[in-house]
Amino acid sequence: MCACGKRLSPPETALARNHEEIECSCGRRLAYERIGSRWTLRAVLTPEGSVPVEGFSRQLRLEPDVERFWFLQTIVGARLPVHVVFSRSSKIAEVKAADLKVVRLSGVESVSEARRLWVDRLEASRKSWRSSASNRSSQSKATPGPGF
Ligand SMILES: [Zn+2]
Repeated sequence: MCACGKRLSPPETALARNHEEIECSCGRRLAYERIGSRWTLRAVLTPEGSVPVEGFSRQLRLEPDVERFWFLQTIVGARLPVHVVFSRSSKIAEVKAADLKVVRLSGVESVSEARRLWVDRLEASRKSWRSSASNRSSQSKATPGPGF
């Protein structure tokens, strides 16, 4: 079910890929992931008129087909809004959460793919902080490392 209340059916099971984006009539994009034979809703991307944080490139923001979305992501224990600026024609997305730096992604086909690539990077960088941390106690709640 979409956040607007509309009931949407998950993607067809016959699809070969494991990720699929469904657009609701309200404009939200629902990102599904297939795990085994079941599709699971991983994220809801909500369109927004303007991006409330700075750091996105001017060039991308001026693309004629630019779209802006936000979604929620748990980052070091906090649920934070993450903003995405995406141009389908140039296949460029820029993603930014809170005061982390903007991540620029190219070759991106959809806003849900941009989310997925960004989350993968976040997870990878989180693992590297964890393995490099000498103190394995609750210090992991500290702010993200300089690399991300
Ligand atoms: Zn909807």
